Amino acid sequence: MSIIRLLQDHGIDTIEEGNKHCSPGWINVHCPFCTGTQDYHLGYNLSGSYFHCWRCGGKQLIPTIAQLIGISYNEASSIIEEYGTGIPHQKTKEKQTNIRPFKFPIPNIPITNKHRKYLIQRKFNPEKLQQDWGIFGTPVISFLDGINFKNRIIAPIYWNGKIVSFQSRDITGRSKLKYITCPKAREIVHHKHILYGKQEAWKDSIICVEGIFDVWRLGKNAVSTFGIGFTRQQIRILVQNFKTVYIIFDEEKQAQEKAKKLQAELQFRGIDTERIFICGDPADMRQEEADKLVKKLGF
Ligand SMILES: [Zn+2]
Repeated sequence: MSIIRLLQDHGIDTIEEGNKHCSPGWINVHCPFCTGTQDYHLGYNLSGSYFHCWRCGGKQLIPTIAQLIGISYNEASSIIEEYGTGIPHQKTKEKQTNIRPFKFPIPNIPITNKHRKYLIQRKFNPEKLQQDWGIFGTPVISFLDGINFKNRIIAPIYWNGKIVSFQSRDITGRSKLKYITCPKAREIVHHKHILYGKQEAWKDSIICVEGIFDVWRLGKNAVSTFGIGFTRQQIRILVQNFKTVYIIFDEEKQAQEKAKKLQAELQFRGIDTERIFICGDPADMRQEEADKLVKKLGF
């Protein structure tokens, strides 16, 4: 049974047992059906294999997965089958990377004024991001494997000098999915098994953050785990490459709980760590403020 893997592979934020918003036996996600604050109102019941939103009620499995990921019912149904969701306790084979050739959504374009406007409003310099991180965009229609990637900024993910995957961010504020990553079957390396950053610039210390925008803000001395749910592969990379890890996750409670967990995992393996608390998200800092922080940490 791998609903968690299904959701996380498709870039859906989940919270699990132990989180105060989540009851035992449930996994929670943001409800794609109701408007208002996104507070993980939609639960998946692990023993009954059904969805229920405590604002807008019971939900069927296939439409919910389709809505969450932004795909058709047919695709949702085959993904559910692939992950064995809905068939509790049945052993399912893990979804493989590298089954299909790596590709970006089609068509894709250099960033336009629309993308630029979004980045500027988030206090980023679009030209610098293009130059430093190779970002580009998608127009009003863009697909890959039936997934709609329209109106997004695409960030290639490099590993060992090669593009191995990509992350995308909606620029309209209207997509239910802020982030959609490369379909796993097309990833050369699964993004949750690596870190986003500039490997060639790594020194003994690093700043570990949640997302790509945080890395863009803090620069080459930062890496991202692609969300707060870090993996053991990411821990291994941190342990093998760094003596000191500064962890700067977002201010919100779930993020800080995960940051604490990450710190414990690293300390257990002999890595010096420090959690840095900032107001809000690192990505929201003013650039000069971020530069100052990076400098203060000794970079
Ligand atoms: Zn709802």
